[in-house]
Amino acid sequence: MNTIKKELRKSDILSLMDTLSKKNYNPIYAENLEEAKEIILNLIPLHSSIALGGSVTINQLDIIDTFRGDEYHLFDRYNQPDWPSTLQCMREGLLADFFLTSTNAISKNGELIQTDSGGNRVASLLWGPKNVIVVCGINKLVDTWQEGMNRIKEFVGPLNSKRINHKTPCNISGVCENCQTKQRICNFTSVIKSGKRVGNPITIIIINEEVGY
Ligand code: SF4
Repeated sequence: MNTIKKELRKSDILSLMDTLSKKNYNPIYAENLEEAKEIILNLIPLHSSIALGGSVTINQLDIIDTFRGDEYHLFDRYNQPDWPSTLQCMREGLLADFFLTSTNAISKNGELIQTDSGGNRVASLLWGPKNVIVVCGINKLVDTWQEGMNRIKEFVGPLNSKRINHKTPCNISGVCENCQTKQRICNFTSVIKSGKRVGNPITIIIINEEVGY
C-alpha cells in the first residue's frame, strides 16, 4: 500500500516538476532524505562557500556537519558566540556561493511561499548568494499560493514558535492569533513566482517523503 501511495505521489511530483521547469526553476526529484543529501553534495563543488536558512528540513538531512569540514566554507549561523556574531554571519552569508534552505509551501502553479522572523531566508532566496537550493518534502505541496499562506498561519508559525521557543501567542495556544509580538515568527513572507533568479535559476529538490514543517 505504501509503495502504491509513493508511486501516486511521485506522479504528482513529476507533474509539478514539469510546471516548475516551465517557470525557470531547476527541479530535481529525490526518493528520500538520503538521496536528497547525495544530490546536494553533487551540486555543491568542494571549497564552495555555503549559507543556511533556518530549516527543520535541512537539519533532517544531516548534512551540516559535512559542510563544517575543511572541504567547504560554511557561514555557520548555529555556531556563533552571541547574537551580534550570528547576525554578522547571516549578513556575510548573503555573499555565499550557495544558499541551502527549505520553503514553507509550493503551489501547483509553481509558486514558492515562505516566511521568516528576521528576513534572512526570504532575502537570500531573492537576492545575494550566487546559487539557491531549496529542499522540500511532499507535505509542503499545496494547491494555491493562498493555501500556502494559510499553511504558514496554521502550521509553520505555531510549530516553529514552539520549536525555537519564541514568546508568541501561538506558542501557547497552537493557533495563529495575528500577533504583533517582538518575537513574531512570520514577519517577512514572500511568494516567488519564477525560478529565474539573477545568476542561476533556483534549484528545487522535492523529496517523496514528509519532511520538515
Ligand atoms: S502572527 Fe503571531 S500568532 Fe500568528 S503565526 Fe505568526 S507568530 Fe504565531
